[in-house]
Amino acid sequence: MQDSLSLECPHCGETFSLALDTSEGSAEFTVDCEVCCRPMTVSVRISDDGELEGVDVTEE
Ligand SMILES: [Zn+2]
Repeated sequence: MQDSLSLECPHCGETFSLALDTSEGSAEFTVDCEVCCRPMTVSVRISDDGELEGVDVTEE
């Protein structure tokens, strides 16, 4: 299932959205901010039935 995350950049404070495939379960990955291009680590928690439970964004 395809979902859309709303992320707030820890560097510049801007928000942007990111497509996520929730069928792959919980994951941690690095993305670059679409606004300032600096990297951040995104941890997503996904329940067994594919529901998005939470998102944590931390500075790289
Ligand atoms: Zn940024």
